[in-house]
Amino acid sequence: MTVESSVRHMEVGLGMGKNPTLICAPIMADTVNQMVELMHKAKFKGADIVEVRLDHMKSLDPRPDIEMLIRECPLPTLFTYRPIWEGGEYNGDEISRFDALQLAMELGADHIDIELKAAHEFMNHIRGNKPEKCKLIVSSHNYEYTPSAEELGNLVARIQAAGADIVKFATTANDITDVARVLQITVHSQFVNRQVPIIAMVMGERGIMSRLLCPKFGAYLTFGTLEEGKVSAPGQPTIDELISLYNFRSINTDTKVFGIIGKPVSHSKSPKLYNRAFKEAGVNGVFVHLLVDDVKKFFETYSSPDFFGFSCTIPHKEVALACCDEVDPVAKSIGAVNCLIRRPNGKLFGCNTDYIGAISSIEIGLQDGASQIGSPLAGKLFVVIGAGGAGKALAYGAKEKGARVVIANRSYDRARDLAELVGGQALTLAELNSFHPETGMILANTTSIGMQPNVEETPISKEALRYYELVFDAIYTPKITRLLREAQEAGSKIVTGVEMFIGQAYEQYERFTGLPAPKQLFRDIMADY
Ligand code: NAP
Repeated sequence: MTVESSVRHMEVGLGMGKNPTLICAPIMADTVNQMVELMHKAKFKGADIVEVRLDHMKSLDPRPDIEMLIRECPLPTLFTYRPIWEGGEYNGDEISRFDALQLAMELGADHIDIELKAAHEFMNHIRGNKPEKCKLIVSSHNYEYTPSAEELGNLVARIQAAGADIVKFATTANDITDVARVLQITVHSQFVNRQVPIIAMVMGERGIMSRLLCPKFGAYLTFGTLEEGKVSAPGQPTIDELISLYNFRSINTDTKVFGIIGKPVSHSKSPKLYNRAFKEAGVNGVFVHLLVDDVKKFFETYSSPDFFGFSCTIPHKEVALACCDEVDPVAKSIGAVNCLIRRPNGKLFGCNTDYIGAISSIEIGLQDGASQIGSPLAGKLFVVIGAGGAGKALAYGAKEKGARVVIANRSYDRARDLAELVGGQALTLAELNSFHPETGMILANTTSIGMQPNVEETPISKEALRYYELVFDAIYTPKITRLLREAQEAGSKIVTGVEMFIGQAYEQYERFTGLPAPKQLFRDIMADY
Protein backbone atom coordinates (compact mmCIF):
# COMPACT_ATOMS: atom_id res chain seq x y z
CA MET A 1 0.00 0.00 0.00
CA THR A 2 1.40 3.43 -0.86
CA VAL A 3 1.57 6.27 1.64
CA GLU A 4 -1.09 8.13 -0.31
CA SER A 5 -3.56 5.29 -0.44
CA SER A 6 -3.13 4.54 3.24
CA VAL A 7 -4.06 8.12 4.08
CA ARG A 8 -7.09 7.95 1.83
CA HIS A 9 -8.16 5.02 4.04
CA MET A 10 -8.17 7.28 7.05
CA GLU A 11 -10.61 9.78 5.61
CA VAL A 12 -13.37 8.53 7.80
CA GLY A 13 -13.47 10.26 11.11
CA LEU A 14 -14.78 13.77 10.99
CA GLY A 15 -18.51 14.07 11.14
CA MET A 16 -18.85 10.61 12.69
CA GLY A 17 -20.05 12.12 15.95
CA LYS A 18 -18.59 13.28 19.17
CA ASN A 19 -16.22 11.07 21.13
CA PRO A 20 -17.20 10.41 24.78
CA THR A 21 -14.15 12.18 26.30
CA LEU A 22 -15.31 15.22 28.26
CA ILE A 23 -13.81 18.69 28.30
CA CYS A 24 -13.54 19.86 31.89
CA ALA A 25 -13.00 23.55 32.66
CA PRO A 26 -11.14 24.22 35.92
CA ILE A 27 -12.91 27.09 37.69
CA MET A 28 -10.71 29.13 39.99
CA ALA A 29 -11.99 32.33 41.60
CA ASP A 30 -12.07 34.19 44.91
CA THR A 31 -15.84 34.23 45.47
CA VAL A 32 -18.92 32.14 44.78
CA ASN A 33 -20.37 34.80 42.47
CA GLN A 34 -17.21 34.90 40.39
CA MET A 35 -17.21 31.10 40.26
CA VAL A 36 -20.79 31.05 38.98
CA GLU A 37 -19.95 33.63 36.31
CA LEU A 38 -17.03 31.48 35.13
CA MET A 39 -19.22 28.35 35.09
CA HIS A 40 -21.57 30.05 32.60
CA LYS A 41 -18.59 31.15 30.55
CA ALA A 42 -17.35 27.54 30.50
CA LYS A 43 -20.70 26.34 29.17
CA PHE A 44 -20.75 29.08 26.54
CA LYS A 45 -17.27 28.07 25.37
CA GLY A 46 -18.31 24.43 25.01
CA ALA A 47 -17.07 22.67 28.16
CA ASP A 48 -18.98 19.56 29.27
CA ILE A 49 -18.19 19.75 32.98
CA VAL A 50 -16.56 22.16 35.42
CA GLU A 51 -14.02 21.45 38.10
CA VAL A 52 -14.83 23.71 41.06
CA ARG A 53 -11.52 24.42 42.76
CA LEU A 54 -12.74 25.20 46.28
CA ASP A 55 -9.13 25.68 47.40
CA HIS A 56 -8.89 28.85 45.27
CA MET A 57 -11.73 30.62 47.11
CA LYS A 58 -10.67 33.38 49.50
CA SER A 59 -13.08 32.11 52.17
CA LEU A 60 -15.54 29.25 52.14
CA ASP A 61 -18.79 29.03 54.07
CA PRO A 62 -19.36 25.42 53.10
CA ARG A 63 -23.11 24.84 53.16
CA PRO A 64 -24.46 28.04 51.54
CA ASP A 65 -21.51 28.34 49.15
CA ILE A 66 -21.54 24.76 47.89
CA GLU A 67 -25.34 24.77 47.72
CA MET A 68 -25.25 27.85 45.51
CA LEU A 69 -22.42 26.55 43.35
CA ILE A 70 -24.33 23.35 42.63
CA ARG A 71 -27.68 25.09 42.15
CA GLU A 72 -26.34 27.75 39.79
CA CYS A 73 -23.98 25.59 37.78
CA PRO A 74 -25.25 25.02 34.21
CA LEU A 75 -22.99 21.97 33.79
CA PRO A 76 -22.16 18.78 35.73
CA THR A 77 -19.69 19.43 38.53
CA LEU A 78 -16.46 18.05 39.88
CA PHE A 79 -15.49 19.40 43.31
CA THR A 80 -11.81 19.53 44.20
CA TYR A 81 -10.39 20.94 47.43
CA ARG A 82 -6.71 20.48 46.74
CA PRO A 83 -4.30 20.81 49.70
CA ILE A 84 -0.94 22.52 49.45
CA TRP A 85 0.85 19.20 49.89
CA GLU A 86 -0.63 18.00 46.55
CA GLY A 87 -0.04 21.21 44.59
CA GLY A 88 -3.25 23.06 45.61
CA GLU A 89 -4.00 26.14 47.72
CA TYR A 90 -5.81 24.68 50.76
CA ASN A 91 -3.84 25.08 53.94
CA GLY A 92 -6.36 24.04 56.62
CA ASP A 93 -7.07 20.88 58.57
CA GLU A 94 -8.12 17.65 56.93
CA ILE A 95 -11.39 17.20 58.83
CA SER A 96 -12.81 20.51 57.54
CA ARG A 97 -11.67 19.62 54.04
CA PHE A 98 -13.28 16.18 54.16
CA ASP A 99 -16.48 17.71 55.60
CA ALA A 100 -16.71 20.13 52.69
CA LEU A 101 -16.21 17.38 50.11
CA GLN A 102 -18.73 15.16 51.85
CA LEU A 103 -21.20 18.02 51.86
CA ALA A 104 -20.64 18.53 48.14
CA MET A 105 -21.51 14.85 47.58
CA GLU A 106 -24.65 15.12 49.66
CA LEU A 107 -25.77 18.33 47.97
CA GLY A 108 -25.59 16.79 44.51
CA ALA A 109 -22.03 17.11 43.14
CA ASP A 110 -21.55 14.78 40.17
CA HIS A 111 -17.92 14.04 41.03
CA ILE A 112 -15.55 14.76 43.86
CA ASP A 113 -11.78 14.44 43.76
CA ILE A 114 -9.78 13.05 46.65
CA GLU A 115 -6.03 12.57 46.62
CA LEU A 116 -4.72 9.00 46.83
CA LYS A 117 -2.63 9.97 49.86
CA ALA A 118 -5.81 10.99 51.72
CA ALA A 119 -8.23 8.47 50.21
CA HIS A 120 -8.09 5.91 53.01
CA GLU A 121 -8.72 8.55 55.68
CA PHE A 122 -11.52 10.10 53.61
CA MET A 123 -13.22 6.74 53.13
CA ASN A 124 -13.16 6.23 56.90
CA HIS A 125 -14.52 9.74 57.35
CA ILE A 126 -17.57 9.18 55.13
CA ARG A 127 -18.04 5.57 56.35
CA GLY A 128 -19.10 4.43 52.89
CA ASN A 129 -21.93 7.00 52.69
CA LYS A 130 -21.53 8.11 49.13
CA PRO A 131 -24.61 8.97 47.08
CA GLU A 132 -25.00 6.66 44.05
CA LYS A 133 -24.95 9.63 41.67
CA CYS A 134 -21.59 11.00 42.83
CA LYS A 135 -18.46 9.52 41.29
CA LEU A 136 -15.31 9.45 43.36
CA ILE A 137 -12.15 10.43 41.52
CA VAL A 138 -9.05 9.31 43.37
CA SER A 139 -6.08 11.31 42.13
CA SER A 140 -2.31 11.33 42.26
CA HIS A 141 0.01 14.11 41.07
CA ASN A 142 3.70 13.85 40.41
CA TYR A 143 5.19 17.29 39.77
CA GLU A 144 8.71 16.01 39.16
CA TYR A 145 8.72 13.18 36.64
CA THR A 146 6.81 10.33 34.98
CA PRO A 147 7.48 6.97 36.60
CA SER A 148 8.20 3.77 34.68
CA ALA A 149 5.37 1.82 33.01
CA GLU A 150 5.51 -0.75 35.79
CA GLU A 151 5.29 1.89 38.50
CA LEU A 152 2.38 3.56 36.70
CA GLY A 153 0.60 0.21 36.49
CA ASN A 154 1.05 -0.23 40.24
CA LEU A 155 -0.18 3.31 40.84
CA VAL A 156 -3.39 2.67 38.88
CA ALA A 157 -3.95 -0.54 40.84
CA ARG A 158 -3.49 1.31 44.15
CA ILE A 159 -5.90 4.05 43.07
CA GLN A 160 -8.51 1.45 42.14
CA ALA A 161 -7.98 -0.41 45.39
CA ALA A 162 -8.60 2.86 47.26
CA GLY A 163 -12.20 2.77 46.03
CA ALA A 164 -12.01 5.04 42.97
CA ASP A 165 -14.95 5.17 40.56
CA ILE A 166 -12.56 7.05 38.27
CA VAL A 167 -8.76 6.85 38.32
CA LYS A 168 -6.84 10.07 37.88
CA PHE A 169 -3.12 10.56 37.72
CA ALA A 170 -1.00 13.40 36.42
CA THR A 171 2.75 13.18 36.02
CA THR A 172 5.39 15.55 34.66
CA ALA A 173 7.03 15.22 31.26
CA ASN A 174 10.78 15.73 31.29
CA ASP A 175 10.85 14.30 27.78
CA ILE A 176 8.05 13.91 25.24
CA THR A 177 8.55 10.14 25.26
CA ASP A 178 7.22 10.10 28.86
CA VAL A 179 3.77 10.65 27.35
CA ALA A 180 3.90 7.26 25.59
CA ARG A 181 3.85 5.37 28.90
CA VAL A 182 0.83 7.31 30.08
CA LEU A 183 -1.07 6.83 26.82
CA GLN A 184 -0.24 3.15 26.94
CA ILE A 185 -1.68 2.79 30.46
CA THR A 186 -4.79 4.70 29.38
CA VAL A 187 -5.44 2.57 26.33
CA HIS A 188 -4.67 -0.59 28.23
CA SER A 189 -7.05 0.11 31.08
CA GLN A 190 -9.83 1.29 28.75
CA PHE A 191 -9.70 -0.98 25.75
CA VAL A 192 -7.85 -4.08 26.99
CA ASN A 193 -8.76 -4.59 30.64
CA ARG A 194 -11.94 -2.48 30.61
CA GLN A 195 -11.10 -1.15 34.07
CA VAL A 196 -12.69 1.89 35.69
CA PRO A 197 -12.60 5.12 33.63
CA ILE A 198 -9.26 6.91 33.66
CA ILE A 199 -8.03 10.48 33.53
CA ALA A 200 -4.31 10.42 32.78
CA MET A 201 -2.22 13.36 31.74
CA VAL A 202 1.35 14.51 31.59
CA MET A 203 1.99 18.06 32.75
CA GLY A 204 4.27 20.62 31.09
CA GLU A 205 4.91 21.63 27.48
CA ARG A 206 6.47 18.26 26.65
CA GLY A 207 3.28 16.56 27.84
CA ILE A 208 0.69 18.57 25.91
CA MET A 209 0.10 15.70 23.49
CA SER A 210 -1.44 13.68 26.36
CA ARG A 211 -4.10 16.35 26.85
CA LEU A 212 -4.97 16.59 23.15
CA LEU A 213 -4.90 12.95 22.08
CA CYS A 214 -6.70 11.45 25.08
CA PRO A 215 -9.98 10.77 23.18
CA LYS A 216 -7.99 8.51 20.85
CA PHE A 217 -6.88 6.49 23.85
CA GLY A 218 -10.22 6.44 25.67
CA ALA A 219 -9.66 8.84 28.59
CA TYR A 220 -12.64 10.03 30.63
CA LEU A 221 -11.83 13.74 30.37
CA THR A 222 -9.26 16.37 29.57
CA PHE A 223 -8.90 19.83 31.08
CA GLY A 224 -9.48 22.95 28.98
CA THR A 225 -9.02 26.42 30.44
CA LEU A 226 -11.25 29.42 29.91
CA GLU A 227 -8.36 31.66 29.00
CA GLU A 228 -4.78 31.24 27.92
CA GLY A 229 -2.38 31.17 30.87
CA LYS A 230 -5.11 30.69 33.52
CA VAL A 231 -4.22 27.07 34.15
CA SER A 232 -4.71 24.82 37.16
CA ALA A 233 -1.79 22.63 36.03
CA PRO A 234 1.09 23.26 33.59
CA GLY A 235 0.41 22.62 29.90
CA GLN A 236 -3.39 22.90 29.85
CA PRO A 237 -4.77 24.10 26.50
CA THR A 238 -7.77 26.44 26.34
CA ILE A 239 -11.26 25.15 25.56
CA ASP A 240 -11.15 27.20 22.34
CA GLU A 241 -7.93 25.53 21.28
CA LEU A 242 -9.26 22.06 22.02
CA ILE A 243 -12.46 22.59 20.07
CA SER A 244 -11.49 24.98 17.27
CA LEU A 245 -7.78 24.37 16.74
CA TYR A 246 -7.45 20.64 17.44
CA ASN A 247 -10.94 19.44 16.39
CA PHE A 248 -10.99 17.62 19.75
CA ARG A 249 -14.58 16.42 19.39
CA SER A 250 -13.77 14.48 16.23
CA ILE A 251 -10.70 12.63 17.53
CA ASN A 252 -11.35 8.90 17.81
CA THR A 253 -9.36 5.66 17.97
CA ASP A 254 -8.70 5.77 14.20
CA THR A 255 -7.41 9.34 14.17
CA LYS A 256 -3.91 9.59 12.73
CA VAL A 257 -1.47 11.79 14.60
CA PHE A 258 0.61 14.40 12.80
CA GLY A 259 2.85 16.99 14.35
CA ILE A 260 5.70 19.41 14.13
CA ILE A 261 8.92 18.38 15.83
CA GLY A 262 11.13 21.20 17.05
CA LYS A 263 12.73 22.95 20.00
CA PRO A 264 11.32 25.54 20.47
CA VAL A 265 8.12 24.71 18.65
CA SER A 266 5.16 26.44 20.30
CA HIS A 267 5.44 29.40 17.86
CA SER A 268 4.72 27.18 14.84
CA LYS A 269 1.57 27.94 12.88
CA SER A 270 1.47 24.47 11.33
CA PRO A 271 -1.29 23.08 13.63
CA LYS A 272 -3.52 25.99 12.59
CA LEU A 273 -3.03 25.23 8.90
CA TYR A 274 -3.27 21.47 8.91
CA ASN A 275 -6.09 21.01 11.42
CA ARG A 276 -8.31 23.45 9.50
CA ALA A 277 -7.44 21.76 6.24
CA PHE A 278 -8.05 18.28 7.70
CA LYS A 279 -11.44 19.39 8.95
CA GLU A 280 -12.51 20.90 5.64
CA ALA A 281 -11.32 17.89 3.63
CA GLY A 282 -12.73 15.31 6.09
CA VAL A 283 -9.33 13.81 6.86
CA ASN A 284 -9.30 11.92 10.16
CA GLY A 285 -6.10 13.42 11.51
CA VAL A 286 -4.92 15.78 14.22
CA PHE A 287 -1.79 17.92 14.02
CA VAL A 288 0.01 18.89 17.26
CA HIS A 289 3.12 20.70 18.50
CA LEU A 290 5.84 18.23 19.53
CA LEU A 291 8.56 19.67 21.76
CA VAL A 292 11.31 17.13 21.13
CA ASP A 293 14.75 16.99 22.76
CA ASP A 294 16.03 13.72 21.35
CA VAL A 295 14.77 12.99 17.83
CA LYS A 296 16.04 9.42 17.66
CA LYS A 297 14.37 8.50 20.94
CA PHE A 298 11.17 10.19 19.75
CA PHE A 299 10.95 8.13 16.56
CA GLU A 300 11.89 4.92 18.35
CA THR A 301 9.13 5.51 20.92
CA TYR A 302 6.39 6.68 18.56
CA SER A 303 6.95 4.05 15.90
CA SER A 304 3.35 2.93 15.42
CA PRO A 305 1.64 3.87 12.14
CA ASP A 306 -0.85 5.85 14.23
CA PHE A 307 1.88 8.51 14.47
CA PHE A 308 1.75 9.11 10.79
CA GLY A 309 3.38 12.31 9.59
CA PHE A 310 5.77 14.91 10.93
CA SER A 311 7.01 18.32 9.97
CA CYS A 312 10.44 19.07 11.33
CA THR A 313 11.92 22.40 12.32
CA ILE A 314 14.80 23.95 14.28
CA PRO A 315 17.17 22.34 15.30
CA HIS A 316 16.31 18.79 14.23
CA LYS A 317 16.26 18.66 10.42
CA GLU A 318 19.68 17.09 10.03
CA VAL A 319 19.36 14.58 12.88
CA ALA A 320 15.91 13.64 11.58
CA LEU A 321 17.45 12.63 8.27
CA ALA A 322 19.67 10.15 10.08
CA CYS A 323 16.56 8.59 11.69
CA CYS A 324 14.92 7.84 8.32
CA ASP A 325 14.87 4.39 6.73
CA GLU A 326 14.38 5.95 3.30
CA VAL A 327 15.28 9.46 2.19
CA ASP A 328 14.22 11.29 -0.93
CA PRO A 329 17.35 11.85 -3.11
CA VAL A 330 16.99 15.65 -3.07
CA ALA A 331 16.74 15.69 0.74
CA LYS A 332 19.81 13.46 0.84
CA SER A 333 21.77 15.99 -1.22
CA ILE A 334 20.56 18.83 0.99
CA GLY A 335 21.41 16.83 4.11
CA ALA A 336 18.18 17.76 5.90
CA VAL A 337 14.56 16.61 6.00
CA ASN A 338 11.59 18.70 7.10
CA CYS A 339 8.82 16.22 6.31
CA LEU A 340 8.65 12.61 7.56
CA ILE A 341 6.03 9.95 6.93
CA ARG A 342 5.64 6.59 8.64
CA ARG A 343 4.98 4.05 5.89
CA PRO A 344 2.47 1.25 6.59
CA ASN A 345 5.40 -1.19 6.82
CA GLY A 346 6.75 0.89 9.73
CA LYS A 347 9.63 2.44 7.74
CA LEU A 348 10.21 6.15 8.17
CA PHE A 349 10.44 8.12 4.94
CA GLY A 350 11.94 11.63 4.87
CA CYS A 351 11.93 14.40 2.28
CA ASN A 352 12.55 18.13 2.04
CA THR A 353 9.83 20.56 1.06
CA ASP A 354 11.65 23.67 2.33
CA TYR A 355 13.62 24.19 -0.85
CA ILE A 356 10.54 23.98 -3.04
CA GLY A 357 8.66 26.50 -0.89
CA ALA A 358 11.55 28.95 -0.67
CA ILE A 359 12.87 28.79 -4.22
CA SER A 360 9.45 29.01 -5.86
CA SER A 361 8.51 32.05 -3.76
CA ILE A 362 11.81 33.78 -4.65
CA GLU A 363 11.25 32.99 -8.34
CA ILE A 364 7.77 34.51 -8.15
CA GLY A 365 9.23 37.55 -6.37
CA LEU A 366 11.76 38.06 -9.19
CA GLN A 367 9.29 37.73 -12.03
CA ASP A 368 8.38 41.07 -13.51
CA GLY A 369 5.30 39.94 -15.38
CA ALA A 370 7.08 39.24 -18.65
CA SER A 371 7.07 35.57 -19.60
CA GLN A 372 10.47 34.05 -19.17
CA ILE A 373 12.06 30.84 -20.30
CA GLY A 374 13.89 29.05 -17.48
CA SER A 375 14.34 30.22 -13.91
CA PRO A 376 14.93 33.91 -13.14
CA LEU A 377 17.60 32.65 -10.75
CA ALA A 378 19.81 31.29 -13.54
CA GLY A 379 23.18 33.05 -13.54
CA LYS A 380 22.41 35.19 -10.45
CA LEU A 381 24.78 35.49 -7.51
CA PHE A 382 22.80 33.98 -4.64
CA VAL A 383 24.06 34.67 -1.11
CA VAL A 384 22.73 32.37 1.62
CA ILE A 385 23.21 33.40 5.26
CA GLY A 386 23.21 30.26 7.41
CA ALA A 387 24.26 26.68 6.84
CA GLY A 388 21.65 24.76 8.85
CA GLY A 389 18.66 22.88 7.48
CA ALA A 390 17.03 25.84 5.74
CA GLY A 391 20.41 27.16 4.53
CA LYS A 392 21.23 23.86 2.88
CA ALA A 393 17.80 23.72 1.26
CA LEU A 394 18.15 27.22 -0.20
CA ALA A 395 21.73 26.65 -1.34
CA TYR A 396 20.87 23.39 -3.02
CA GLY A 397 17.70 24.78 -4.62
CA ALA A 398 19.48 27.88 -5.94
CA LYS A 399 22.25 25.76 -7.42
CA GLU A 400 19.68 23.51 -9.11
CA LYS A 401 18.20 26.62 -10.73
CA GLY A 402 21.57 27.65 -12.15
CA ALA A 403 22.54 30.35 -9.63
CA ARG A 404 26.10 30.90 -8.40
CA VAL A 405 25.95 30.26 -4.65
CA VAL A 406 27.80 31.95 -1.76
CA ILE A 407 27.38 30.81 1.85
CA ALA A 408 27.97 33.04 4.89
CA ASN A 409 27.66 31.48 8.32
CA ARG A 410 28.54 32.12 11.95
CA SER A 411 30.46 28.84 12.06
CA TYR A 412 32.77 29.24 9.10
CA ASP A 413 33.52 25.51 8.89
CA ARG A 414 29.86 24.78 8.19
CA ALA A 415 29.78 27.52 5.53
CA ARG A 416 32.84 25.98 3.89
CA ASP A 417 31.39 22.46 3.95
CA LEU A 418 28.13 23.60 2.39
CA ALA A 419 29.91 25.75 -0.19
CA GLU A 420 31.95 22.71 -1.22
CA LEU A 421 28.76 20.68 -1.56
CA VAL A 422 27.13 23.18 -3.93
CA GLY A 423 30.32 24.27 -5.69
CA GLY A 424 30.16 27.77 -4.21
CA GLN A 425 32.14 30.24 -2.11
CA ALA A 426 32.21 30.51 1.71
CA LEU A 427 32.26 33.68 3.81
CA THR A 428 32.26 34.54 7.49
CA LEU A 429 29.35 36.62 8.73
CA ALA A 430 31.75 39.53 9.27
CA GLU A 431 32.70 39.51 5.57
CA LEU A 432 29.10 39.94 4.44
CA ASN A 433 28.94 43.72 4.77
CA SER A 434 31.83 44.30 2.39
CA PHE A 435 30.92 41.52 -0.05
CA HIS A 436 29.54 43.11 -3.20
CA PRO A 437 31.34 41.87 -6.29
CA GLU A 438 28.32 42.90 -8.40
CA THR A 439 24.84 44.38 -8.18
CA GLY A 440 21.54 42.56 -8.69
CA MET A 441 22.41 39.79 -6.26
CA ILE A 442 19.91 37.70 -4.26
CA LEU A 443 20.17 37.47 -0.46
CA ALA A 444 18.52 34.75 1.61
CA ASN A 445 18.68 34.80 5.42
CA THR A 446 18.18 31.32 6.83
CA THR A 447 19.39 31.97 10.38
CA SER A 448 17.22 32.88 13.33
CA ILE A 449 18.82 36.36 13.55
CA GLY A 450 15.87 38.80 13.82
CA MET A 451 13.33 36.21 14.89
CA GLN A 452 10.98 37.02 17.78
CA PRO A 453 11.82 38.07 20.44
CA ASN A 454 15.10 39.44 19.02
CA VAL A 455 13.36 41.57 16.39
CA GLU A 456 15.97 44.34 16.43
CA GLU A 457 18.74 42.02 15.22
CA THR A 458 19.77 41.79 11.58
CA PRO A 459 22.54 39.80 9.87
CA ILE A 460 23.80 42.51 7.47
CA SER A 461 24.15 46.30 7.36
CA LYS A 462 21.53 48.38 5.55
CA GLU A 463 24.24 49.92 3.31
CA ALA A 464 25.20 46.52 1.96
CA LEU A 465 21.62 45.77 0.97
CA ARG A 466 21.61 48.11 -2.04
CA TYR A 467 23.62 45.54 -4.00
CA TYR A 468 20.75 43.07 -3.79
CA GLU A 469 17.86 42.94 -6.26
CA LEU A 470 15.85 40.74 -3.91
CA VAL A 471 16.11 39.93 -0.22
CA PHE A 472 14.42 36.89 1.28
CA ASP A 473 14.07 36.05 4.98
CA ALA A 474 13.10 32.53 6.08
CA ILE A 475 11.90 33.87 9.43
CA TYR A 476 8.13 34.26 9.59
CA THR A 477 7.69 35.57 13.11
CA PRO A 478 7.63 38.52 12.57
CA LYS A 479 6.51 38.57 8.97
CA ILE A 480 8.50 41.72 8.19
CA THR A 481 11.84 41.42 9.93
CA ARG A 482 14.28 44.28 10.36
CA LEU A 483 16.26 42.81 7.45
CA LEU A 484 13.23 42.97 5.14
CA ARG A 485 12.25 46.45 6.32
CA GLU A 486 15.74 47.79 5.61
CA ALA A 487 15.87 45.94 2.29
CA GLN A 488 12.67 47.66 1.21
CA GLU A 489 14.11 51.01 2.27
CA ALA A 490 17.24 50.22 0.25
CA GLY A 491 15.08 49.61 -2.83
CA SER A 492 15.23 45.79 -2.99
CA LYS A 493 12.30 43.48 -3.68
CA ILE A 494 11.43 41.38 -0.66
CA VAL A 495 10.02 37.91 -0.11
CA THR A 496 8.87 36.91 3.38
CA GLY A 497 9.21 33.64 5.27
CA VAL A 498 5.41 33.39 5.21
CA GLU A 499 5.61 32.76 1.44
CA MET A 500 8.13 29.98 2.02
CA PHE A 501 6.06 28.58 4.84
CA ILE A 502 2.94 28.42 2.69
CA GLY A 503 4.85 26.89 -0.22
CA GLN A 504 6.45 24.14 1.86
CA ALA A 505 3.14 23.47 3.62
CA TYR A 506 1.33 22.90 0.27
CA GLU A 507 3.85 20.25 -0.55
CA GLN A 508 3.73 18.59 2.88
CA TYR A 509 -0.05 18.51 2.97
CA GLU A 510 -0.12 16.73 -0.36
CA ARG A 511 2.44 14.21 0.85
CA PHE A 512 0.60 13.66 4.15
CA THR A 513 -2.86 13.17 2.67
CA GLY A 514 -2.51 12.41 -1.04
CA LEU A 515 -4.99 15.25 -1.56
CA PRO A 516 -4.39 18.59 -3.29
CA ALA A 517 -3.49 21.30 -0.77
CA PRO A 518 -6.24 23.85 -0.10
CA LYS A 519 -4.05 26.73 -1.28
CA GLN A 520 -6.55 29.53 -0.79
CA LEU A 521 -7.36 28.31 2.73
CA PHE A 522 -3.65 28.28 3.66
CA ARG A 523 -3.25 31.81 2.29
CA ASP A 524 -6.33 33.03 4.16
CA ILE A 525 -5.12 31.58 7.46
CA MET A 526 -1.62 33.00 7.04
CA ALA A 527 -2.99 36.40 5.99
CA ASP A 528 -3.63 37.05 9.68
CA TYR A 529 0.12 36.93 10.42
P1 NAP B 1 19.15 25.18 11.99
O1 NAP B 1 19.34 23.97 11.18
O2 NAP B 1 19.26 25.06 13.47
O3 NAP B 1 20.23 26.28 11.50
C1 NAP B 1 20.33 27.52 12.15
C2 NAP B 1 21.31 28.40 11.40
O4 NAP B 1 21.24 29.68 12.00
C3 NAP B 1 22.76 27.95 11.47
O5 NAP B 1 23.41 28.34 10.29
C4 NAP B 1 23.28 28.76 12.68
O6 NAP B 1 24.67 29.02 12.61
C5 NAP B 1 22.55 30.05 12.49
N1 NAP B 1 22.36 30.80 13.72
C6 NAP B 1 21.52 30.48 14.74
N2 NAP B 1 21.59 31.43 15.68
C7 NAP B 1 22.48 32.34 15.25
C8 NAP B 1 22.97 33.56 15.79
N3 NAP B 1 22.57 34.01 16.97
N4 NAP B 1 23.85 34.26 15.09
C9 NAP B 1 24.28 33.82 13.88
N5 NAP B 1 23.86 32.68 13.31
C10 NAP B 1 22.96 31.96 14.00
O7 NAP B 1 17.74 25.88 11.71
P2 NAP B 1 16.85 25.86 10.38
O8 NAP B 1 15.86 24.77 10.47
O9 NAP B 1 17.73 25.96 9.21
O10 NAP B 1 16.00 27.23 10.52
C11 NAP B 1 16.64 28.50 10.41
C12 NAP B 1 15.61 29.63 10.34
O11 NAP B 1 14.76 29.46 9.22
C13 NAP B 1 14.65 29.71 11.55
O12 NAP B 1 14.43 31.05 11.87
C14 NAP B 1 13.39 29.06 11.05
O13 NAP B 1 12.21 29.53 11.73
C15 NAP B 1 13.40 29.50 9.60
N6 NAP B 1 12.64 28.59 8.74
C16 NAP B 1 11.53 29.07 8.13
C17 NAP B 1 10.80 28.27 7.30
C18 NAP B 1 9.60 28.82 6.61
O14 NAP B 1 8.79 28.03 6.12
N7 NAP B 1 9.48 30.13 6.51
C19 NAP B 1 11.17 26.95 7.09
C20 NAP B 1 12.32 26.49 7.72
C21 NAP B 1 13.04 27.31 8.55
P3 NAP B 1 25.76 27.95 13.16
O15 NAP B 1 25.98 26.98 12.06
O16 NAP B 1 26.93 28.79 13.46
O17 NAP B 1 25.13 27.32 14.39
